[in-house]
Amino acid sequence: MKAKKRILTGDRPTGKLHLGHYVGTLANRVRLQDRYECFFIIADLHVLTTRIEKEKIAKVKQNIHDLVLDYLSVGIDPGKAVIYQQSLVPEVAYLALLFSMLVSVPRCQRVPTLKEVMHDLKIQSPSLGLLTYPVLQAADILMVKGNLVPVGKDQESHIELTRVIAKRFNLLYGEIFPFPEALIGEVPTLPGTDGQTKMSKSVGNCIYLSDNANEVRRKVMAMYTDPTRVHPTDPGHVEGNPVFVYHEAFNNNQEEVERLKQRYQKGQVGDVEVKEKLVKALNLFLDPIRARRRKYESQPEAIEEIIKKGSQTAQAEAQKTLKEVKKAMGLA
Ligand code: ATP
Ligand code: MG
Repeated sequence: MKAKKRILTGDRPTGKLHLGHYVGTLANRVRLQDRYECFFIIADLHVLTTRIEKEKIAKVKQNIHDLVLDYLSVGIDPGKAVIYQQSLVPEVAYLALLFSMLVSVPRCQRVPTLKEVMHDLKIQSPSLGLLTYPVLQAADILMVKGNLVPVGKDQESHIELTRVIAKRFNLLYGEIFPFPEALIGEVPTLPGTDGQTKMSKSVGNCIYLSDNANEVRRKVMAMYTDPTRVHPTDPGHVEGNPVFVYHEAFNNNQEEVERLKQRYQKGQVGDVEVKEKLVKALNLFLDPIRARRRKYESQPEAIEEIIKKGSQTAQAEAQKTLKEVKKAMGLA
């Protein structure tokens, strides 16, 4: 039997997961966990690239717990997927160091997310760690010889750099690594409730997978819609209107969505009705996630155990790859 191909993807434990994560990457993880051998990384070392203060590091432990709870709630199965903590696999830092010799500084400077993060967090000059964020990510992916990386659109450039590193390594030392492909979600970038282009926990424009029905209602009713529309009888725009983007992504009754769109464009339906229907659709979508969360919330030790076991499995892979790498390079 041919070995299954591998997926590696993950998240920084910087807070709770939201709807953007779901459509951008989580849905693909759940969908593919049977067909691929999956590794889901809790990238706690990557957190340090933007949160180096001790008080911020102190929050990571709780965030890790919440992240795994989010994973289990959406249906990631720890019996199928390896969920592991980056810092428990220190071999990855060694591999990242070796990879850092294979990429030029300007190549890292050209990665678009660097500029975005510097802009968002008002960073004047990036630390070496932030600059080499994608090099560490390449080490995460290649350490387990990942073939497919389900991520949101914003991460595409990182996977491209991973391929550059894999090619260069293979050219210099022999065929060790695959060339991983990004798998972008059905909604490449979900907009925020404020109409900004990206739902992002740093911006605070999110509906979280852990929000209760009241929170969902409050956030949806306050959502940005079509600013050109003053009265419900004005023809409205559905393109780029986040309320309709969410309807398309989460409402399981697409006929209803089609009808709402047509009525909206003709000025035959008010924002309130469209939003009421969205609240209902989102709660319907979130209910099974909530039910699974309740189940796992009562077993915190099980979550600890999943991380511990997963990290051991990932470390065994890391050691194997590192051994191969050193041999290929002629290092001791
Ligand atoms: P932060 O603000 O801390 O960067 P974030 O909300 O942008 O947080 P990340 O942890 O950077 O989330 O992203 C984790 C994964 O989710 C990545 O694969 C990313 O591409 C994807 N993702 C994040 N936000 C969205 C979004 N709004 N739409 C689609 N995918 C997203
Ligand atoms: Mg981000």
